[in-house]
Amino acid sequence: MKVGFIGLGNMGGPMAANLLREGNEVTGFDLAAPMPEGVSKAASAADAAKGADVVITMLPNGAILRSVAAEVIPAMAPGAVLCDCSTVDVESARAVAEQAAAAGLGALDAPVSGGVGGATNGTLTFMVGGTAAAFDKVKPLFDIMGQKAVHCGEAGAGQAAKICNNMILGVTMIATCEAFALADKLGLDRQKMFDVVSTSSGYSWTMNAYCPAPGVGPKSPADNDYKPGFAAELMLKDLRLSQQAAEAADADTPMGQLAAALYTQFVEQEDGRGMDFSAMLPRFEKRHRT
Ligand code: NAD
Repeated sequence: MKVGFIGLGNMGGPMAANLLREGNEVTGFDLAAPMPEGVSKAASAADAAKGADVVITMLPNGAILRSVAAEVIPAMAPGAVLCDCSTVDVESARAVAEQAAAAGLGALDAPVSGGVGGATNGTLTFMVGGTAAAFDKVKPLFDIMGQKAVHCGEAGAGQAAKICNNMILGVTMIATCEAFALADKLGLDRQKMFDVVSTSSGYSWTMNAYCPAPGVGPKSPADNDYKPGFAAELMLKDLRLSQQAAEAADADTPMGQLAAALYTQFVEQEDGRGMDFSAMLPRFEKRHRT
């Protein structure tokens, strides 16, 4: 396929490289990031979109997505699909989908799980909102960039799935870290704590697959001085999106709200910025009951 790719940063770069490797023709545009080898560089986002079957965006936030979409939609060929893989607010996803539909284009919100490792290895999970026709058209590209693509529903459903998943992730990471810190203070060995919880009802992805305690469980950022991995500020971004959505939808999410407050404090007032989000464990270790 002819693919226009806009936003070739930490995630978009390797995703575009994988599409190219599998024989797609990829034209890229980024304000700053270099193009992966073989991706032709367009002079503007609109130029990257011209004549493409699918235009993929992988951008920092909803405001940037809206401005890029306003530029590329008029440049896209009729019947082409605009597929946004960034994590953005549900409202921006829906607004962009409406504009695309009004211009006779397909549109998908298709945020990802799996991080830079998943982007590089082509093992991302895509959670996708939009029409079945648009999903079917882009599916071969999802199959190259990822291991799974779930069509979640109409426009915005992909972003809804993403922020609900990551709200669970943030809350669970905090619960896992505070439980380890309590176990320390009770004199319980961390390995024993892992052996029990990872096979008991407290098990979770954060405990079993991404254990925040160094030297315990499978290798994780905890074993690499808490270098990300998934940075605390990206967790904070997703938790804020979950709370923005909860407010708009009038949903009561007390744990998500508290998780957002804790990651805000960690990133903005403490030393969490640039650390993996599992560095909540050393944070709790240093603290006392207030
Ligand atoms: P990044 O900052 O590395 O990449 C974003 C790129 O967009 C940058 O290269 C930037 O120059 C470019 N850009 C910004 N404004 C632009 C514009 N107007 N036109 C063209 N290019 C523009 O970020 P990333 O880590 O690649 O993340 C991208 C998206 O993926 C974000 O929405 C993020 O929340 C989401 N995400 C990231 C991860 C992760 O682990 N990094 C995991 C899942 C989802």
